[in-house]
Parts: sequence; structure tokens; C-alpha cells
Amino acid sequence: PPGAGFVHTFLPGRVVFGAGALDRVATEVEALGVRRALVVATYSARAAADVVEAQLGDLFAGRIDGVAQHVPTEVAEQARTTARETGADAVVAIGGGSAIGLAKAIALTAEQVVIVAVPTTYAGSEMTPVWGETAAGRKSTGTDMRVLPRVVIYDPMLSRGLPLKVTAASVANAIAHCVEATWTPKADPITELTAVEGLRALSTGLRDVLLAPDDLDARSNLLYGACLAGSALATAGTGLHHKLCHLLGGTYNLPHAETHAAVLPQVTRVNAPAVPQAAARLAATLGTEEPSSLAAQLFDLYKAAGVATSLRELGLTETQVTEAAAAFKPTDNPVPVTEDLMRGILTRAWSGTRP
Ligand code: NAD
Repeated sequence: PPGAGFVHTFLPGRVVFGAGALDRVATEVEALGVRRALVVATYSARAAADVVEAQLGDLFAGRIDGVAQHVPTEVAEQARTTARETGADAVVAIGGGSAIGLAKAIALTAEQVVIVAVPTTYAGSEMTPVWGETAAGRKSTGTDMRVLPRVVIYDPMLSRGLPLKVTAASVANAIAHCVEATWTPKADPITELTAVEGLRALSTGLRDVLLAPDDLDARSNLLYGACLAGSALATAGTGLHHKLCHLLGGTYNLPHAETHAAVLPQVTRVNAPAVPQAAARLAATLGTEEPSSLAAQLFDLYKAAGVATSLRELGLTETQVTEAAAAFKPTDNPVPVTEDLMRGILTRAWSGTRP
């Protein structure tokens, strides 16, 4: 409750949201005083990148299409060289977390480069000052205000073609940002408000998009939810859930978004009783106000969306479950983190047991 006191830092940034907002990219870039804009685009978003390239006219500095998952250092180095050679002072990133991640890798090392992000998935990276880069199979991450996009342009038309399987996994990732934002050490009432509204929009959008994948209202709800989820992640930071997913993804090469879906209900089962008010608010957006049912509701939502809800399906072995439980470093969490607790979470996540 606010009476207990809290600290919340509002992050700067501008959000332009709406069907057809892609048309405003050049205007927004110009308003930033940019002279040379480099376009970084995921291959699946190349049609949108073509539109932006034409729109930019004289401001267009070049294009990078070679986007890869988790920002490999070689790809980042190549992109930095291109940015230097073209004299870019802005990067327009079009695509999912991978494209935005590559834009961040450029902005991190080039003082004058600002980012305009046009997200086409629900990962939420566009709202955060967090960057990541992978060298020799190891991902490093950090926080730096230079990588926070100055303008984010959300156009739900762009995500209409996102395949349902990718959509569901990406939404599972966004939902994890909302739920975990209520129990991290930096959680606060303003972030909680954002997270609860984010979960409402994401769960409504997810149910609707399963029935009609290209429905614009459903896609709008999902993108709006992704924006709120990303902003909750940005202010609350990460906790037990994200740290566990990071360990699993990094050590066993499990897919990022699907791992979130298998792990979140199990971490929620353990943590929700420790944050009963927030859990009740989150649960209410899913249909009941019973905090203890939040974990099961999340599990059912993911199951209905066809997302993997067990780590076994993702290829983890039982031996690796024990290994990961022992390797997990204790972190600040409302429930004390012990090896036993982690083994319990991982065993249930491995077999996909309904909480
Ligand atoms: P992604 O960018 O790799 O996109 C997922 C898939 O969707 C890709 O195959 C891509 O080609 C496809 N795709 C994207 N837009 C499409 C469209 N409009 N139509 C059809 N297909 C399309 O992955 P992601 O899930 O968006 O992001 C995950 C990455 O982002 C991870 O590396 C993760 O660590 C990072 N991330 C970072 C933050 C942060 O704050 N820094 C937050 C969340 C995620």
C-alpha cells in the first residue's frame, strides 16, 4: 500500500499508438532533429521497412536486414560499423525484441544515436533501457538510458500477420513482465497499476486473437498490453521468474518466450500468497479475485493458447532440473529462495503440473 512509502522513477519517452501510425515515422524522426536515419528491420517486417525507407526520403541513411536472436556480438559489431560509415544519428528499429536489441547495441556505443522503435511483437523491449548482447554463447545484459527509445510507434496493423504460435509465446512473455512487476524488490503502486491494466489488455487480446488472428481490436489490445508490460518491466526490473528463465535460456538454450510460459505459473504459485493484494488485482482481470487462483488461471490461459506449459516439451532433462536448482543464485524475493524451493518450482515446471 502507498502508506508504506515508495520510489517510482518515470522514464522519459513518447508513445504514438494507433492503426496506421506507421505513416508517422518520418514526421517523428524529423521532430527529433535527426539528419541520417538507419533502418534496422526484422526480415518478416521488410514490407513495413520498405514503407519507412520511402517515407524517410533524404533522411534515409541505409538499411540493416540481418537481425539475429539475442544480438550476437558479430552482428552488433557489423551494425556499429554500418552506423559509423553512414554517419547515422538515429536508428529506426522495426520488428521484435531482436531488431530493437540490435538498435540498442548501436546506441549503446554511439553517443549521438537515438532510437525510434516500431515494435511488431509483444516482447516490450522498446519501453526499457535494458540492452543485451551475446558473445561466445554467453549473454550479457545491462541498463543504460542511451538505449531507451526516444519515440515508440505502435501500429497494430503490423502485427496482424504475426503467426498465432509466435503471438501466443510473445504474449506469454509480456504477461510475465506484468505479473513479476508486482513482486520484484523495486515494485511500487504506480508500476502495479500499469501491470494490472497490462494483464487485462493482454489476456483479453489473447482470447480474442485465438478466435480471429487478424482482428484489429484484438491486435490493438495485445500491443497496448505489451506497451504497459514493457513499461512495468522497465520500472520494476526483474526478479526470481526472469532470473530463472535467463538461467534456463542461457545454460540450456531453451526458447526465450516459451520458457516464460512454462515457468511463470509455478513461480506465481509460490509468490502470489506473499503479495496478496496485487495477486487479487491481477486475478480479477482473469475472472476471479482469489489471489491463490492466479497461478492456475495463468496456466489455463497459456494452455488454451497452445503455448508449451512444460519444460520437458522444450527439451530440458530431469538431470538438468536438479542441476539448475543447485546453480540458481539466491535473489531478493518475497519468499526466501532456497535450493528446495527452486527444485519444487523447476520440477513442477518440468512436468507441466497445473498449480
Ligand atoms: P524476435 O524479435 O526474434 O521475433 C520473434 C519472431 O517473430 C521472429 O521469428 C520474427 O521474424 C517474427 N516476427 C516479428 N515481427 C513479425 C511480423 N510483423 N510478422 C511476422 N513475423 C514477425 O523475438 P521477440 O520475442 O520479439 O523478442 C525476444 C528478444 O528480445 C530476446 O532476445 C529477449 O531477450 C529480448 N527482450 C529484451 C527486452 C529488454 O528490455 N531489453 C525485453 C523483452 C525481450
